[in-house]
Amino acid sequence: MIAQPKASHFIDGRHVEDAAGAPIDVIFPATGEVIARVHEATPAVIERALASAARAQKEWARVKPVERARILRRAADLIRDRNQELSELETLDTGKPIQETTVADAASGADALEYFAGLAPTVTGETMPLGRDFVYTVREPLGVCVGIGAWNYPTQIACWKGAPALAFGNAMIFKPSETTPLSALKVAEILHEAGLPAGLYNVVQGRGAVGAVLVSDPRVAKVSLTGSVPTGRKVYALAAEGIRHVTMELGGKSPLIIFDDANLENAVGGALMANFYSSGQVCSNGTRVFVQKGIKDRFLARLKERTEAIRLGDPRDPDTQMGPLVSAAQLDKVLGYIEAGKREGARLVTGGHRAGPNSGWFIAPTVFADVTDEMVIAREEIFGPVMAVLDFEHEEDVVRRANATEFGLSAGVFTGDLARGHRVVAALEAGTCWINAYNLTPVETPFGGSKQSGVGRENSKAAIEHYTQVKSVYVNLGDVDAPY
Ligand code: NDP
Repeated sequence: MIAQPKASHFIDGRHVEDAAGAPIDVIFPATGEVIARVHEATPAVIERALASAARAQKEWARVKPVERARILRRAADLIRDRNQELSELETLDTGKPIQETTVADAASGADALEYFAGLAPTVTGETMPLGRDFVYTVREPLGVCVGIGAWNYPTQIACWKGAPALAFGNAMIFKPSETTPLSALKVAEILHEAGLPAGLYNVVQGRGAVGAVLVSDPRVAKVSLTGSVPTGRKVYALAAEGIRHVTMELGGKSPLIIFDDANLENAVGGALMANFYSSGQVCSNGTRVFVQKGIKDRFLARLKERTEAIRLGDPRDPDTQMGPLVSAAQLDKVLGYIEAGKREGARLVTGGHRAGPNSGWFIAPTVFADVTDEMVIAREEIFGPVMAVLDFEHEEDVVRRANATEFGLSAGVFTGDLARGHRVVAALEAGTCWINAYNLTPVETPFGGSKQSGVGRENSKAAIEHYTQVKSVYVNLGDVDAPY
């Protein structure tokens, strides 16, 4: 097995194995080959993770922020030094092309570690003068945080959750998706190599049930989930039982609006980036592409041309631009949506079938035109390379239709009229919007959803709010005035 890790879990600074846990085969999506086998965490493993995190966090909270920062920065450097090796593992784990993983995965994780290292020493409280007396506030860590990841950006998610948690004095127990369990183990190894004390970043493997046990434990103060809306509902409800803090990064069905006056090449490029990166398995994807009537024909012609030029193939080949879907289950789901699109009368412009090497879970990048709002492919998150193009004529109408969804993760506008760009994003119900761009998520930017797409924000200074809590201290400088 070409990607077998040293052990399934990483706990208290060490690799930990317990073969009594149910086996999980890790499959390279391009060939179906089993590349590793890990074991689901047993109750004993989960207990070790929780106990060590609870112990280590108490010490870590007392470490000066600049010292915490130094360790995180060292980890960021190690990740950058090993970008190639980490990207190759990410490609095996997820099937994403090496062309993408070398720029978007470990690199983004390193950015998060570096950014939060920089932010850690800047977190301070306030003072409120009250005449004779005063109040000061302290931003304290929450305690033990649980991170639960989806399978599309395993390294990035492990870092986006781990970096702010650790920077602000918390411990993290991370459960990767059972589909992509490998790279979080590498993140844990690197953090400890950089000097992180044992117990502060633990990785436990398992399916949803392991996540549920972690979320329910009284020692856990916060849960950050990246996953689908149905899983978000379950995890949020479990966390609510213990009145725990949550960050929910959930799914979407985001609108991308292209006005007649947009630059054609940029608009087509934006739509491609909004639908086909990572084989379309990106939560913020702009999968409802609303195109104004005047540009529609030119847009579709160029879109078809550029889509058909996308190179599918072995994701390890640097020339490959699109890999397979992550799993057989995801392939079936996406093929089901393509059938629904055809059945409901959407016009297939290109794709719509399996492609690439037979043994892998590949789908040709697919574009449907003449899609209408009530079609299933315009309402549900597909999480595959399937773009739905819808027509519109008037700005007010398209804004209303763009907002007519339970989701609110992201949105994009392409227009030559910047005033219109700002006016439209102001009216769109979404956590992250782009004007003449799509899917750029630098660590400096708050990222997260509104409506059913989630609560809380990751990255940026906003993460301070989500990984710390405020303690207020009233200081009385006089006598106590008691009426008794
Ligand atoms: P899932 O919701 O299926 O799973 C997410 C994680 O939750 C997995 O680790 C899963 O474990 C775990 N889990 C499942 N059930 C429970 C439970 N009852 N209690 C605790 N943990 C549980 O999502 P996918 O992995 O399929 O990822 C795709 C989804 O993630 C899409 O909807 C996508 O939009 C969303 N996503 C959102 C992002 C954002 O930032 N907003 C970014 C990336 C993806 P297991 O894998 O073992 O089932």
